[in-house]
Amino acid sequence: MCEYCENTKLLGNSKSLIEGVDAAIDGGKLRVSGWFDGIAGVQPLYIPVNYCPMCGRDLRGNDMPRLYISGPVTGKPDGNREAFEEARRELRHWHMVSIPHEYVDAETTHEEAMAILLHQLTDRTYSYRKGKCANLYDGVAILPGWEQSEGARLEKAVAEACGIPCKTVDEWLEEAR
Ligand SMILES: [Zn+2]
Repeated sequence: MCEYCENTKLLGNSKSLIEGVDAAIDGGKLRVSGWFDGIAGVQPLYIPVNYCPMCGRDLRGNDMPRLYISGPVTGKPDGNREAFEEARRELRHWHMVSIPHEYVDAETTHEEAMAILLHQLTDRTYSYRKGKCANLYDGVAILPGWEQSEGARLEKAVAEACGIPCKTVDEWLEEAR
């Protein structure tokens, strides 16, 4: 699993202000989109692919719902990364999972981190699975201790305001099993 097939990182981009295309692996499909998509109402081209071109992972049947893990980061050793990674290891059997540490690091200020993470959390994209533009994330998985974390409380409030269901990691696991 790599950042390209798990987190839709662009494989390549020739887009300028007025022309060009970009390509990414999105839910087991190769997505090619042009600069005019939003303007002309043109939908990206989705081509089913069997394997990730970057890491070789088998993508067949891998069009899984996408979850974002939210929880306490600030003031914890290594930004509490181990707790996030542990939850991801379990959830990824049924979901594509993102954690905040992929988008921010220890150098990022709190304000910058919130701007980056709330932007990520509220991102919308064309969903091949749903056949329309939709929230990038199908849900938020919440780690224990979120009540004490200002950032996690905010992420939960924003997600709920945008119609993204928030459940504990255990609740998501129970539901998937
Ligand atoms: Zn990959």
